[in-house]
Amino acid sequence: MLSITTFAQSPPYAEQVKAIQDDARVQAAIEHIDKNRDGILREWIAITEVNAPSKHEQERAKFIESLLRKYKLDIRYDSAGNLIATRKGTGGGPVVVFDAHMDTVFQPGLKIKATVRDGRVYAPGVGDDTRNIEALLATIRALDAAKIKTKGDLVFLFTTDEEAGMTGAKQYTQDNKGKVDYYIALDGGYEGFTYAGIGINWYRHHFIGPGGHTRSRTPPYSATLPMARAIARIYELRVPTNPSSNLNIGMLSGSEVPNAKAADAWFSLDLRSTSNEVIDDLEKKIAAILDEEAKRAGMTVKTDLISSSPAAVLPGNRESHLVKMAEAVHRAMGFDPPIGNAGSNNSSAALLQGISSISTGAGPCSDAHALTENCEIEPLYKGIKKILLLELALAGVVP
Ligand SMILES: [Zn+2]
Repeated sequence: MLSITTFAQSPPYAEQVKAIQDDARVQAAIEHIDKNRDGILREWIAITEVNAPSKHEQERAKFIESLLRKYKLDIRYDSAGNLIATRKGTGGGPVVVFDAHMDTVFQPGLKIKATVRDGRVYAPGVGDDTRNIEALLATIRALDAAKIKTKGDLVFLFTTDEEAGMTGAKQYTQDNKGKVDYYIALDGGYEGFTYAGIGINWYRHHFIGPGGHTRSRTPPYSATLPMARAIARIYELRVPTNPSSNLNIGMLSGSEVPNAKAADAWFSLDLRSTSNEVIDDLEKKIAAILDEEAKRAGMTVKTDLISSSPAAVLPGNRESHLVKMAEAVHRAMGFDPPIGNAGSNNSSAALLQGISSISTGAGPCSDAHALTENCEIEPLYKGIKKILLLELALAGVVP
């Protein structure tokens, strides 16, 4: 028996996005964002001023929940403390998750007071990641005001503990594996997006020697000698640019005083790549250099792995519906070219569960993770419109 399947030809991505932009209801939603600029800024500041260090997100979660309760959403928490608000679709569309993390890197008890000057808002955490929390709230209001229904469910996911190991997103993506079609992590970003997660390993390599006074018999030398030789050789290793990879030695230490040979000299190593094979290969070459230099100086090596998160690359994601649609949305907003290859955020948790995912954000900010953190105000409104368009292009607008 011969069976013939015909596929309805969808219009190209750019045309689909253009049709959404031309929809009168979508224009009304965009106008709603413009008319509520002051309210958006006030709410953004109010959320920012509720500090939420990793693992201490509850107060901020309750505050965001109180804002979400004004709209027609299914609201719940999961076992990781993630706050999940679902705007149900009419059916027949994909489940689209938009994630913004609630936690900040600032210590518990820090009093945060935002200041606005010269078109920027200054406050720790205002950008990373509160700007994206506010962007989601603003799109929910705009969709409601314009009475827009989507086919697929829009899931607004406010995650815990991104900064300290992505445990919130890991829990959610593990619990919802197979139930999520697209996962958009809003974290950093404005003009572009990434579609893979970079692998990051941090090490501390120690050379252990006998130590001694400056005037003690030499050799043995200070453990700083094999360390210096090893560092010079490690920087001569070829680090590929494709797949995108980086290596940095940022910290080092020897003895506590000038008149002692170091008995323990150590340096940090930050090794990154979108390919786990590249990380493994460089790790082996570096271990060989450390061993050789330790032997040459008659010392030993000890390596501590401080933290490790694997590269998250989903085969085919570059050519996926999500990436193509996100590309069309960014271009429609005038962001061109928009595609970067790898980020390091909750998107990795989704990719590692096999969920098609990208990462982007709603506005340009500076000084993330510093007390001087600040964001430009004006571009956020454009960024919110971009997120709105992305929500509609992915979930599908009900005619
Ligand atoms: Zn972040």
